[in-house]
Amino acid sequence: MSAGEKSKQIFERALKVLPGGVNSPVRAFRAVGGTPLVVESASGSRLTSVDGREYLDFVCSWGPLILGHAHPRVIEAVTEAAARGTTYGAPCLPEVELAERIVDAYPGLEQVRCVSSGTEATMSAVRLARGATGRNLVVKFAGSYHGHVDHLMVAAGSGLVTFGTPSSAGVPEDMVKNTLVAPLDDEAAIEQLFAEHGREIAAVILEPIPANNGLLLQRPEFLQTLRRLTSAHGALLIFDEVISGFRVGPGGAAAHYGITPDLACFGKVIGGGLPVGAFGGSKDLMHHLAPNGGVYQAGTLSGNPVAMTAGATTLRLLEESDGWARLESLGAYLEGKLGATLDAAGRPASLVRVGSIFWMCLQAGEPPRAADGIDGDGADFYKHLFHQLLDQGVAIAPSMYEVGFLSTAHTEADIDQLADTLGRALASVGESETA
Ligand SMILES: *Cc1c(COP(=O)(O)O)cnc(C)c1O
Repeated sequence: MSAGEKSKQIFERALKVLPGGVNSPVRAFRAVGGTPLVVESASGSRLTSVDGREYLDFVCSWGPLILGHAHPRVIEAVTEAAARGTTYGAPCLPEVELAERIVDAYPGLEQVRCVSSGTEATMSAVRLARGATGRNLVVKFAGSYHGHVDHLMVAAGSGLVTFGTPSSAGVPEDMVKNTLVAPLDDEAAIEQLFAEHGREIAAVILEPIPANNGLLLQRPEFLQTLRRLTSAHGALLIFDEVISGFRVGPGGAAAHYGITPDLACFGKVIGGGLPVGAFGGSKDLMHHLAPNGGVYQAGTLSGNPVAMTAGATTLRLLEESDGWARLESLGAYLEGKLGATLDAAGRPASLVRVGSIFWMCLQAGEPPRAADGIDGDGADFYKHLFHQLLDQGVAIAPSMYEVGFLSTAHTEADIDQLADTLGRALASVGESETA
């Protein structure tokens, strides 16, 4: 619909050489239909397509761009770093600086290992947990996403939820036989699981702020139960903070809820828009990693100087500018505005938010806290809203299961524009229904 001729032409070429025309499934717009925008450039809160159209962006590359697109100070730092060489395959100062920032900010962390994606971070954290405990079982939750790791692709997946497929083809049964899937928001289920398997469980991994299948905010009591049970049974608690880390605050969900995990995984924000992930824990736990210990983990481009510089600069700028306070106030403003817009439309819907992460929940009643509480019937309605917004120059996620993000580059005026556009889109849905 909204994609212009040039976007269509380039996407035609993409379809020939890239499966689905994309390098990550959700970008293909399958949940909403139409041709994806092909982006030419981006700055602050805006994207420009190859057709020269400007879009106010609430996807923010799915989370990393907490300072907005192409922040001048980040670009300057990255440019200078690149001029000094793009990779050394040897220790460098920027990796130490990023690691120090993460370790200083996050509860309980003493050491981190940097990798190149969130997927690598969760995959390696689980291996470390198994190596450190000498146990095999891992518990994950339905509706959580931890990247495309074989043994975590169990009844979950960011794109997969969109496609409505329970799991991925190509993952042998044997790969997932040590993965247990539990429901979120259910203390009884996890108590029972530990009663049965407690001595074999290496780790429980979860998004403490589940944000890949709607925004399923958990009750603190549920998270406290996980902390208590893992400690009592000698299992490790792994927080996958790839979205929430340095997004809801420097201490991530751990500080937000006052619960310290044994291992934490990072990605997205800590890379400042470049490919970075990291996982960390106490020195004792991290000592199991090669070269000190027997858990192998490595990466040709891990600790890449350009990427580390982007991440360290982003975290420094956030800290210097009190970015998280700004994001909280923008988030509160958005919550008020969009909440009122949804109310005024007389639709059963609500706005779920934590910090600068938000989700439009298109169903009646209290927002769900577990995956099976999401009513898929909102999909057609979302599709309509998505295209109405895109036609008006406002980009939200191309799937109702995906959350939105604010950056420090967004303004109250940007949020007003989103709310006004959404209000008109909601009204037009009503008109097309009564017509
Ligand atoms: C994005 C994400 C991942 C995977 O990170 P990639 O960099 O895409 O590999 C893992 N866990 C969570 C919670 C995520 O949101």
